[in-house]
Amino acid sequence: MAFDYDLVLKGGEVVDPAQGLRAVRDVGFKDGLVAAVEADIPPAVAAEVVDVAGKLVAPGLIDLHGHFAHRIYPYRADPDSYCLAVGVTTAVDAGSVGWANFQAFRDYVIGRVDTRMYAFVHLSTLGLTTLTTMGIPDLEDFRWARAEEAIRCIQENRDVVLGVKVRLSPTGTTAANAVPAIEMARRVADETDSKMMVHVMESPLPLDQVFGYLKAGDIATHIFHGDVHNVLDEAGQVRQHVREAQQRGVVFDTAGAMRHCSIPVSRAAVEQGVPPDTISTDRNQPRSGMVNYDLLEHMSIFLELGVPLDDVIRMVTVNASDAIGREELGTLRPGSIGDAAVLELEEGEFGFEDGLGNSLRASRRFAPVLTVKDGARWRPRWS
Ligand SMILES: [Zn+2]
Repeated sequence: MAFDYDLVLKGGEVVDPAQGLRAVRDVGFKDGLVAAVEADIPPAVAAEVVDVAGKLVAPGLIDLHGHFAHRIYPYRADPDSYCLAVGVTTAVDAGSVGWANFQAFRDYVIGRVDTRMYAFVHLSTLGLTTLTTMGIPDLEDFRWARAEEAIRCIQENRDVVLGVKVRLSPTGTTAANAVPAIEMARRVADETDSKMMVHVMESPLPLDQVFGYLKAGDIATHIFHGDVHNVLDEAGQVRQHVREAQQRGVVFDTAGAMRHCSIPVSRAAVEQGVPPDTISTDRNQPRSGMVNYDLLEHMSIFLELGVPLDDVIRMVTVNASDAIGREELGTLRPGSIGDAAVLELEEGEFGFEDGLGNSLRASRRFAPVLTVKDGARWRPRWS
Protein backbone atom coordinates (compact mmCIF):
# COMPACT_ATOMS: atom_id res chain seq x y z
CA MET A 1 0.00 0.00 0.00
CA ALA A 2 1.13 3.55 -0.58
CA PHE A 3 1.77 5.61 2.52
CA ASP A 4 1.15 9.33 2.92
CA TYR A 5 4.54 9.68 4.62
CA ASP A 6 7.87 7.88 4.36
CA LEU A 7 8.73 8.82 7.94
CA VAL A 8 6.97 10.45 10.86
CA LEU A 9 8.70 11.81 13.96
CA LYS A 10 6.00 11.47 16.57
CA GLY A 11 5.36 13.53 19.68
CA GLY A 12 8.54 15.60 19.88
CA GLU A 13 8.79 19.24 20.91
CA VAL A 14 9.29 20.99 17.59
CA VAL A 15 11.51 24.08 17.76
CA ASP A 16 11.41 25.89 14.43
CA PRO A 17 12.24 29.59 14.88
CA ALA A 18 11.68 30.28 11.16
CA GLN A 19 7.98 29.62 11.79
CA GLY A 20 7.96 30.97 15.33
CA LEU A 21 6.95 27.46 16.36
CA ARG A 22 7.68 25.69 19.61
CA ALA A 23 5.10 23.06 20.43
CA VAL A 24 4.56 19.31 20.56
CA ARG A 25 3.96 18.24 16.98
CA ASP A 26 4.31 15.29 14.64
CA VAL A 27 6.55 15.89 11.63
CA GLY A 28 5.90 13.93 8.43
CA PHE A 29 8.39 13.52 5.58
CA LYS A 30 7.63 12.46 2.02
CA ASP A 31 9.84 12.26 -1.08
CA GLY A 32 12.75 13.96 0.65
CA LEU A 33 10.77 16.95 1.87
CA VAL A 34 8.93 18.04 4.97
CA ALA A 35 5.31 17.19 4.16
CA ALA A 36 3.42 18.08 7.34
CA VAL A 37 3.82 19.47 10.84
CA GLU A 38 0.63 18.61 12.68
CA ALA A 39 -0.72 17.91 16.14
CA ASP A 40 -1.48 14.28 15.31
CA ILE A 41 -0.49 12.23 12.29
CA PRO A 42 -2.03 8.73 12.50
CA PRO A 43 0.75 6.10 12.56
CA ALA A 44 -1.07 4.00 9.99
CA VAL A 45 -0.40 6.49 7.19
CA ALA A 46 3.40 6.36 7.59
CA ALA A 47 5.88 3.76 6.37
CA GLU A 48 8.06 4.39 9.45
CA VAL A 49 7.15 6.05 12.74
CA VAL A 50 9.73 7.04 15.34
CA ASP A 51 8.52 7.99 18.82
CA VAL A 52 10.49 11.08 19.86
CA ALA A 53 8.34 12.13 22.83
CA GLY A 54 10.36 14.16 25.29
CA LYS A 55 12.95 15.10 22.67
CA LEU A 56 13.54 18.33 20.78
CA VAL A 57 12.92 18.25 17.03
CA ALA A 58 14.79 21.01 15.20
CA PRO A 59 15.34 21.60 11.50
CA GLY A 60 18.56 19.96 10.29
CA LEU A 61 21.39 21.99 11.80
CA ILE A 62 23.79 24.05 9.67
CA ASP A 63 27.46 24.52 10.57
CA LEU A 64 28.60 27.72 8.86
CA HIS A 65 32.32 27.28 9.46
CA GLY A 66 34.29 24.03 9.47
CA HIS A 67 37.22 22.47 7.62
CA PHE A 68 36.10 19.42 5.73
CA ALA A 69 38.62 18.92 2.91
CA HIS A 70 39.11 15.48 4.36
CA ARG A 71 42.22 13.71 3.00
CA ILE A 72 42.81 16.50 0.50
CA TYR A 73 45.45 17.46 3.05
CA PRO A 74 46.02 16.62 6.74
CA TYR A 75 43.86 17.62 9.73
CA ARG A 76 40.65 18.24 7.79
CA ALA A 77 37.54 16.66 9.30
CA ASP A 78 35.44 13.91 7.73
CA PRO A 79 32.07 15.66 7.28
CA ASP A 80 29.74 12.73 7.92
CA SER A 81 31.25 11.61 11.20
CA TYR A 82 31.41 15.12 12.63
CA CYS A 83 28.20 16.55 11.17
CA LEU A 84 25.42 14.06 10.49
CA ALA A 85 26.23 12.12 13.63
CA VAL A 86 25.23 15.16 15.72
CA GLY A 87 22.27 16.49 13.73
CA VAL A 88 24.21 18.72 11.34
CA THR A 89 22.85 18.03 7.87
CA THR A 90 24.48 20.97 6.07
CA ALA A 91 28.07 22.10 6.52
CA VAL A 92 30.08 24.93 5.04
CA ASP A 93 33.79 24.57 4.44
CA ALA A 94 35.42 27.88 5.33
CA GLY A 95 38.15 28.21 2.75
CA SER A 96 40.17 25.06 3.32
CA VAL A 97 41.03 25.06 -0.37
CA GLY A 98 41.74 27.64 -3.06
CA TRP A 99 41.06 27.59 -6.75
CA ALA A 100 43.86 25.08 -7.49
CA ASN A 101 42.68 22.31 -5.16
CA PHE A 102 38.96 23.11 -5.15
CA GLN A 103 38.08 20.61 -7.85
CA ALA A 104 39.59 17.73 -5.86
CA PHE A 105 37.60 18.80 -2.82
CA ARG A 106 34.47 18.99 -4.92
CA ASP A 107 34.89 15.62 -6.62
CA TYR A 108 36.32 13.55 -3.77
CA VAL A 109 34.58 15.06 -0.74
CA ILE A 110 31.58 17.25 -1.55
CA GLY A 111 30.34 14.86 -4.21
CA ARG A 112 30.80 11.72 -2.14
CA VAL A 113 29.69 12.42 1.42
CA ASP A 114 26.14 12.30 2.76
CA THR A 115 26.42 15.73 4.41
CA ARG A 116 25.10 18.56 2.23
CA MET A 117 28.12 20.75 1.64
CA TYR A 118 28.85 24.31 0.58
CA ALA A 119 32.19 26.08 0.52
CA PHE A 120 34.04 29.33 0.46
CA VAL A 121 37.02 29.37 -1.89
CA HIS A 122 40.13 30.76 -0.26
CA LEU A 123 41.71 33.77 -1.92
CA SER A 124 45.06 31.98 -1.74
CA THR A 125 45.68 29.48 -4.55
CA LEU A 126 46.18 26.53 -2.16
CA GLY A 127 43.84 27.67 0.61
CA LEU A 128 45.01 26.69 4.07
CA THR A 129 47.30 23.94 2.79
CA THR A 130 50.53 25.89 3.30
CA LEU A 131 49.63 26.95 6.83
CA THR A 132 48.34 23.59 7.99
CA THR A 133 51.08 21.43 6.52
CA MET A 134 54.10 23.71 6.81
CA GLY A 135 53.21 26.66 9.02
CA ILE A 136 53.53 29.08 6.10
CA PRO A 137 50.86 31.83 6.23
CA ASP A 138 48.20 31.60 3.52
CA LEU A 139 49.15 34.87 1.86
CA GLU A 140 52.64 35.60 3.14
CA ASP A 141 53.63 35.55 -0.51
CA PHE A 142 51.02 37.66 -2.26
CA ARG A 143 51.70 35.92 -5.56
CA TRP A 144 49.47 33.14 -4.17
CA ALA A 145 46.49 35.53 -4.27
CA ARG A 146 44.94 35.13 -7.71
CA ALA A 147 41.77 37.13 -8.26
CA GLU A 148 40.99 35.98 -11.80
CA GLU A 149 41.41 32.28 -10.99
CA ALA A 150 39.33 32.64 -7.82
CA ILE A 151 36.60 34.41 -9.78
CA ARG A 152 36.54 31.65 -12.39
CA CYS A 153 36.45 28.94 -9.72
CA ILE A 154 33.52 30.62 -7.98
CA GLN A 155 31.63 31.15 -11.24
CA GLU A 156 32.12 27.55 -12.36
CA ASN A 157 30.94 26.14 -9.02
CA ARG A 158 28.15 28.48 -8.01
CA ASP A 159 25.91 25.59 -7.02
CA VAL A 160 28.15 24.85 -4.04
CA VAL A 161 30.40 27.89 -3.64
CA LEU A 162 29.14 30.78 -1.53
CA GLY A 163 32.02 33.21 -1.98
CA VAL A 164 35.60 33.97 -1.04
CA LYS A 165 37.48 33.49 2.24
CA VAL A 166 40.29 35.67 3.52
CA ARG A 167 42.11 35.41 6.84
CA LEU A 168 43.32 38.66 8.38
CA SER A 169 46.00 37.35 10.73
CA PRO A 170 49.77 36.94 11.08
CA THR A 171 49.19 33.34 9.91
CA GLY A 172 46.90 34.45 7.09
CA THR A 173 47.45 37.59 5.05
CA THR A 174 50.27 38.72 7.39
CA ALA A 175 50.21 42.42 8.33
CA ALA A 176 51.94 43.48 5.12
CA ASN A 177 49.32 41.95 2.84
CA ALA A 178 46.18 42.56 4.90
CA VAL A 179 44.87 45.56 2.96
CA PRO A 180 45.69 44.28 -0.54
CA ALA A 181 44.15 40.91 0.36
CA ILE A 182 40.86 42.24 1.69
CA GLU A 183 40.64 44.66 -1.24
CA MET A 184 41.15 41.78 -3.66
CA ALA A 185 38.62 39.62 -1.79
CA ARG A 186 36.11 42.48 -2.03
CA ARG A 187 36.63 42.64 -5.78
CA VAL A 188 36.30 38.86 -6.17
CA ALA A 189 33.04 38.85 -4.17
CA ASP A 190 31.64 41.81 -6.09
CA GLU A 191 32.52 40.44 -9.53
CA THR A 192 30.92 37.09 -8.72
CA ASP A 193 27.99 38.55 -6.79
CA SER A 194 28.99 36.30 -3.90
CA LYS A 195 29.90 36.72 -0.26
CA MET A 196 33.08 37.38 1.62
CA MET A 197 33.93 35.48 4.80
CA VAL A 198 36.63 37.22 6.80
CA HIS A 199 38.63 35.72 9.66
CA VAL A 200 38.99 38.61 12.10
CA MET A 201 41.05 37.04 14.91
CA GLU A 202 44.53 38.52 15.37
CA SER A 203 43.70 40.92 12.58
CA PRO A 204 46.36 43.54 11.95
CA LEU A 205 43.50 45.87 10.98
CA PRO A 206 41.09 47.31 13.58
CA LEU A 207 37.59 45.89 13.36
CA ASP A 208 36.01 49.16 12.23
CA GLN A 209 38.41 49.23 9.28
CA VAL A 210 37.54 45.61 8.46
CA PHE A 211 33.81 46.37 8.66
CA GLY A 212 34.40 49.13 6.13
CA TYR A 213 35.01 46.39 3.54
CA LEU A 214 32.00 44.27 4.47
CA LYS A 215 28.50 44.50 3.03
CA ALA A 216 25.25 43.12 4.41
CA GLY A 217 25.44 39.32 4.16
CA ASP A 218 29.21 39.12 4.42
CA ILE A 219 30.45 37.06 7.35
CA ALA A 220 32.81 38.16 10.11
CA THR A 221 34.00 34.87 11.55
CA HIS A 222 35.65 34.26 14.97
CA ILE A 223 33.81 37.48 15.89
CA PHE A 224 34.08 36.88 19.67
CA HIS A 225 37.80 36.15 19.78
CA GLY A 226 39.71 37.53 22.78
CA ASP A 227 42.71 38.94 20.95
CA VAL A 228 43.58 42.49 19.89
CA HIS A 229 40.85 44.40 18.03
CA ASN A 230 38.02 42.41 19.55
CA VAL A 231 34.40 43.52 19.90
CA LEU A 232 34.92 45.03 23.38
CA ASP A 233 36.55 48.33 24.28
CA GLU A 234 38.96 48.82 27.19
CA ALA A 235 36.01 49.15 29.59
CA GLY A 236 34.56 45.83 28.45
CA GLN A 237 31.73 47.43 26.49
CA VAL A 238 30.72 46.35 23.00
CA ARG A 239 32.06 48.97 20.62
CA GLN A 240 29.45 51.11 18.90
CA HIS A 241 30.74 50.32 15.40
CA VAL A 242 30.33 46.63 16.20
CA ARG A 243 26.65 47.12 16.99
CA GLU A 244 26.25 49.17 13.81
CA ALA A 245 27.91 46.50 11.65
CA GLN A 246 25.56 43.80 12.96
CA GLN A 247 22.54 46.06 12.57
CA ARG A 248 23.32 46.70 8.92
CA GLY A 249 23.56 42.98 8.22
CA VAL A 250 27.15 41.82 8.66
CA VAL A 251 26.82 38.25 9.91
CA PHE A 252 28.52 37.60 13.27
CA ASP A 253 29.75 34.00 13.30
CA THR A 254 31.47 32.36 16.27
CA ALA A 255 33.59 29.54 14.72
CA GLY A 256 34.78 28.43 18.12
CA ALA A 257 37.44 25.72 17.77
CA MET A 258 40.79 25.92 19.50
CA ARG A 259 41.15 29.45 20.90
CA HIS A 260 39.00 31.30 18.41
CA CYS A 261 36.00 32.13 20.59
CA SER A 262 36.57 33.60 24.04
CA ILE A 263 34.04 32.64 26.72
CA PRO A 264 34.30 36.01 28.58
CA VAL A 265 34.01 38.05 25.36
CA SER A 266 31.03 35.97 24.27
CA ARG A 267 29.41 36.38 27.69
CA ALA A 268 29.87 40.17 27.61
CA ALA A 269 28.48 40.44 24.08
CA VAL A 270 25.44 38.30 24.90
CA GLU A 271 24.77 40.22 28.11
CA GLN A 272 25.04 43.53 26.27
CA GLY A 273 22.52 42.52 23.62
CA VAL A 274 24.93 41.57 20.83
CA PRO A 275 24.47 37.81 20.48
CA PRO A 276 26.05 35.97 17.56
CA ASP A 277 24.00 35.56 14.39
CA THR A 278 25.38 32.08 13.82
CA ILE A 279 27.10 29.49 16.02
CA SER A 280 29.65 27.35 14.17
CA THR A 281 32.48 24.98 14.97
CA ASP A 282 35.63 25.70 12.92
CA ARG A 283 35.77 21.91 13.06
CA ASN A 284 39.06 20.23 12.20
CA GLN A 285 40.20 16.66 12.53
CA PRO A 286 40.56 16.31 16.31
CA ARG A 287 44.11 16.60 17.57
CA SER A 288 45.10 15.93 21.16
CA GLY A 289 45.08 18.88 23.53
CA MET A 290 43.00 21.05 21.26
CA VAL A 291 39.50 22.34 21.96
CA ASN A 292 37.55 21.05 18.98
CA TYR A 293 33.93 20.72 19.95
CA ASP A 294 31.04 19.63 17.79
CA LEU A 295 28.19 21.99 17.01
CA LEU A 296 26.00 20.73 19.85
CA GLU A 297 28.76 21.53 22.34
CA HIS A 298 29.16 25.05 20.96
CA MET A 299 25.38 25.49 21.16
CA SER A 300 25.47 24.29 24.77
CA ILE A 301 28.06 26.97 25.63
CA PHE A 302 25.82 29.77 24.32
CA LEU A 303 22.79 28.27 26.07
CA GLU A 304 24.71 28.44 29.34
CA LEU A 305 25.80 32.03 28.55
CA GLY A 306 22.14 33.03 28.59
CA VAL A 307 20.98 32.78 24.98
CA PRO A 308 17.39 31.42 25.08
CA LEU A 309 16.97 27.91 23.65
CA ASP A 310 14.85 29.07 20.71
CA ASP A 311 17.54 31.59 19.77
CA VAL A 312 20.31 28.99 20.03
CA ILE A 313 18.36 26.85 17.57
CA ARG A 314 17.69 29.92 15.41
CA MET A 315 21.46 30.56 15.13
CA VAL A 316 22.14 27.11 13.66
CA THR A 317 19.02 26.88 11.49
CA VAL A 318 17.26 29.83 9.90
CA ASN A 319 20.00 32.38 10.61
CA ALA A 320 22.53 30.06 9.00
CA SER A 321 20.30 29.27 6.01
CA ASP A 322 19.83 33.03 5.55
CA ALA A 323 23.60 33.45 5.70
CA ILE A 324 24.10 30.92 2.91
CA GLY A 325 21.08 32.09 0.93
CA ARG A 326 19.23 28.74 0.99
CA GLU A 327 15.71 29.35 2.30
CA GLU A 328 14.71 25.73 1.61
CA LEU A 329 17.00 24.74 4.50
CA GLY A 330 16.89 25.62 8.19
CA THR A 331 13.16 25.19 8.69
CA LEU A 332 10.51 22.47 8.99
CA ARG A 333 7.98 24.46 7.01
CA PRO A 334 6.15 21.99 4.72
CA GLY A 335 7.81 21.92 1.31
CA SER A 336 11.28 22.52 2.75
CA ILE A 337 14.15 20.05 2.41
CA GLY A 338 13.40 17.13 4.74
CA ASP A 339 16.22 17.53 7.25
CA ALA A 340 15.75 17.37 11.01
CA ALA A 341 17.83 17.01 14.14
CA VAL A 342 16.32 15.15 17.08
CA LEU A 343 18.10 16.25 20.22
CA GLU A 344 17.99 15.63 23.93
CA LEU A 345 18.53 18.43 26.40
CA GLU A 346 20.49 16.63 29.10
CA GLU A 347 20.69 17.91 32.64
CA GLY A 348 23.74 17.42 34.82
CA GLU A 349 27.13 19.01 35.41
CA PHE A 350 29.12 19.67 32.29
CA GLY A 351 32.35 21.57 31.67
CA PHE A 352 33.48 23.51 28.62
CA GLU A 353 36.66 25.44 27.89
CA ASP A 354 37.74 27.90 25.23
CA GLY A 355 41.41 27.03 24.78
CA LEU A 356 42.37 30.38 26.30
CA GLY A 357 42.31 29.24 29.91
CA ASN A 358 38.65 30.06 30.51
CA SER A 359 36.14 27.43 31.46
CA LEU A 360 32.40 27.24 31.91
CA ARG A 361 30.25 24.98 34.05
CA ALA A 362 26.93 24.17 32.47
CA SER A 363 23.84 22.49 33.86
CA ARG A 364 22.43 21.51 30.48
CA ARG A 365 23.80 20.32 27.19
CA PHE A 366 22.45 19.22 23.85
CA ALA A 367 22.97 15.57 22.93
CA PRO A 368 22.22 13.88 19.60
CA VAL A 369 19.39 11.37 19.29
CA LEU A 370 18.86 10.91 15.56
CA THR A 371 19.28 12.76 12.29
CA VAL A 372 16.90 12.96 9.34
CA LYS A 373 18.49 13.85 6.01
CA ASP A 374 16.44 14.32 2.82
CA GLY A 375 13.38 12.77 4.44
CA ALA A 376 15.01 9.57 5.69
CA ARG A 377 16.58 8.53 8.95
CA TRP A 378 20.34 8.82 8.47
CA ARG A 379 22.50 5.88 9.45
CA PRO A 380 26.28 5.95 9.18
CA ARG A 381 27.72 3.87 6.36
CA TRP A 382 30.30 2.50 8.79
CA SER A 383 27.76 0.98 11.21
ZN1 LIG B 1 38.49 28.13 10.18
